Amino acid sequence: MKLRAKLLVEGIVQGVGFRPFIHNLAKAYDLTGWVLNSSKGVIIEAEGEEVGVESFITDVKSKAPPLARIENINISFLPRKGYISFEIKHSLAREGEFVLVSPDISICPDCLRELFDPQDRRYEYPFINCTNCGPRFTIIKDIPYDRDKTTMDEFEMCPLCAEEYSDPTNRRYHAQPNACPVCGPWVSLVDRERKPISGKPKRKLFNLELYLKQKSPFNEAGRLLKEGYIIAVKGLGGFHLACDATNDMAVKSLRERKGRDDKPFALMCLDMETIERYCSVSDEERSLLENRSRPIVLLRKLDNIPISEYVAVNNNYLGIMLPYTPLHYLLLKSSPPALVMTSANISEEPLLKDNEEVIRRLSHIADYFLLHNRDIFSRCDDTVARVVNLSSSSQEMMIRRSRGYAPLPIGLGFELKEVLACGGELKNTVCLTKGRYAFLSQHIGDLKNYETLQYFEETIERFRRLFKINPKIIAYDLHPQYLSTRYALEQEDIELIGVQHHHAHLASCMADNGLNGLKERVIGVIYDGTGYGTDGQIWGGEFLVGDYRDFKRVAHLRYIPLPGGDSAIKKPYRVALSFLQEIWGRDYSTRLDIELLNRISRDESEFIARMIEVGLNTPLTSSCGRLFDAVSSLCGVRDTINYEGQAAIELEMIADPRISDSYRYGINEEEESWIVDTLPIIEEVIYDLNRGQPRSTISAKFHNTVAEFSLDLCKKIRDREGINKVVFSGGVFQNMFLSERMMRNFDKAGFEVYIHSQVPPNDGGISLGQAVIAQFKENL
Ligand code: ZN
Ligand code: ZN
Ligand code: FE
Repeated sequence: MKLRAKLLVEGIVQGVGFRPFIHNLAKAYDLTGWVLNSSKGVIIEAEGEEVGVESFITDVKSKAPPLARIENINISFLPRKGYISFEIKHSLAREGEFVLVSPDISICPDCLRELFDPQDRRYEYPFINCTNCGPRFTIIKDIPYDRDKTTMDEFEMCPLCAEEYSDPTNRRYHAQPNACPVCGPWVSLVDRERKPISGKPKRKLFNLELYLKQKSPFNEAGRLLKEGYIIAVKGLGGFHLACDATNDMAVKSLRERKGRDDKPFALMCLDMETIERYCSVSDEERSLLENRSRPIVLLRKLDNIPISEYVAVNNNYLGIMLPYTPLHYLLLKSSPPALVMTSANISEEPLLKDNEEVIRRLSHIADYFLLHNRDIFSRCDDTVARVVNLSSSSQEMMIRRSRGYAPLPIGLGFELKEVLACGGELKNTVCLTKGRYAFLSQHIGDLKNYETLQYFEETIERFRRLFKINPKIIAYDLHPQYLSTRYALEQEDIELIGVQHHHAHLASCMADNGLNGLKERVIGVIYDGTGYGTDGQIWGGEFLVGDYRDFKRVAHLRYIPLPGGDSAIKKPYRVALSFLQEIWGRDYSTRLDIELLNRISRDESEFIARMIEVGLNTPLTSSCGRLFDAVSSLCGVRDTINYEGQAAIELEMIADPRISDSYRYGINEEEESWIVDTLPIIEEVIYDLNRGQPRSTISAKFHNTVAEFSLDLCKKIRDREGINKVVFSGGVFQNMFLSERMMRNFDKAGFEVYIHSQVPPNDGGISLGQAVIAQFKENL
């Protein structure tokens, strides 16, 4: 019997080779009809024998091209029409409808093979790509996704490329960035004076024979890297600063020139074999590294490796990625085995993306510039992820969700209003919602300067245009000083909804795990550095009970004075001194004999004591991050920091996993909530210091204590509220020593525990929580 089926396929089905796949599939089953790209998705009509049509439908789901992400297929059966052939119809975009945009995808195995095949016409061509791989988000200016709406529009395809592009049986059918050495972009290596070292300075001068005769810019770049030079390398979503990671002098001078004291650098290595020489890699970590989004993966260092100690100071982990573009493969082939590949920016500013700007602004850092002439439209930093080991399994956790992931949405499974959520201050991302999707932006950065604010506003505009979202509601953080908050409050004719920081963390973790925050409430253990509380104090060690609509604060860490407010964040010793004064009073120094007091000048400690005493610029904080800071400083690990979280990270790194002891703490009941008294912990830390316990022991005991009081409190909350589901969110949960212990202990105590996976536990994830909460909140 003959049948006609009509299919509407929704998801990422455009620009990923979906129509030729359908075309070839229809031919294989001897079906007639057509396929069409619409702004709702791909529409297919297929007519033929019943068996053929049925197998066709099964294969659409199971054999879709690698980059396609099918969200939904709507199938209806209709009377036969008598089509004679199977056609690919021309696409039409309709007003207000939107399609999903693919993120940038690492080079596929087919293209990689061609890249290193001397017989192939794209042999060693750094921009080889096909429908299954290559740049997308970073080159797309507008939709529908066609070449003239990308930064490839200035390159006209040569006849050979054009032929591939229009042949449905070819892997490059409608591959918008399709190019070859004859017609596409090229690289050149120049010095600070813009003088070419190698490569092709002007496109017009170029032809294939010339190119083959030339000395490869990659060999030259590799040679310079081996000699210890620093090279700015233009990649996919921005530039990297590259140098030989095994060369102390090179890494040190990169740190000095960039003004980046200790914050770890990411590395790139050619292959898994090389990575395994430096780090231990589990199966899960390997598949994360090899994932076509190619994130930077945090991996545990092996002992005595030839990587410079300046790459990741006082850190047991290295962040490593595999090459993700053909350009990176060519560079790594001729480079030292491990390259530092760190974002090329002026400190705290967004990534730089334009050739001229990079040469102008980074000449004091880079010795040479490996440039190319395909423009970057949207910047996109590298993604950072890791594997968390749970009791019986393991789970991926995002630390920074960016290249290879953005602008893929998080599917929420229910209809959403059009909302813009502005995120927080640090590690900012924005989130726009439409349909059943939350579109989380790439990593924008710390909103602390004009350039980043510009990038923030530009990203909002681009996401609005790309996904045709016209928000009627803006969600923002309650902190009045955040630039994202100020931006929100400046917008006119739009409903504004303020969302408490830690409530946003809770909702973010619920949404991340697909929990239904309309039907159920959870306990949220939210540990981070800073968040504006509804009482005007700085929160950050919070036990909430809540859902998407509302929350209540059921417990928190004891408030302590934060002398100097925000400026104390860079000076953990101030928090330590604040604890001492809280415990022993104003003249603590006469009653205590500890190392810390010898490291801080008398004037300084006197100044801080006075500040606390009179309450000058000294808000109260329940921050868990600050508790870690205090212990880190007391132990002599870090008195001051030069990147966010450094004191806590270095404290985690020395913790001895064999220690199972812990410290005393108190839980006091006040009205409707519990307060964790942290003072006994500090007293016992000092007792241990005075009796000469190793720092590794003290650190471990401290971590164990935090895990213990967390569980203790959650049991009380469970008993009172009858809730067994717990979400962990906040930047502190990037601490694996703590997270893995807490997961194990909560698991044993019968809790259902949820941690982050698709979005980061840090403030990079809160825009998602804000967007979800704003859906349901009544504006008062
Ligand atoms: Zn490919
Ligand atoms: Zn070509
Ligand atoms: Fe936070």
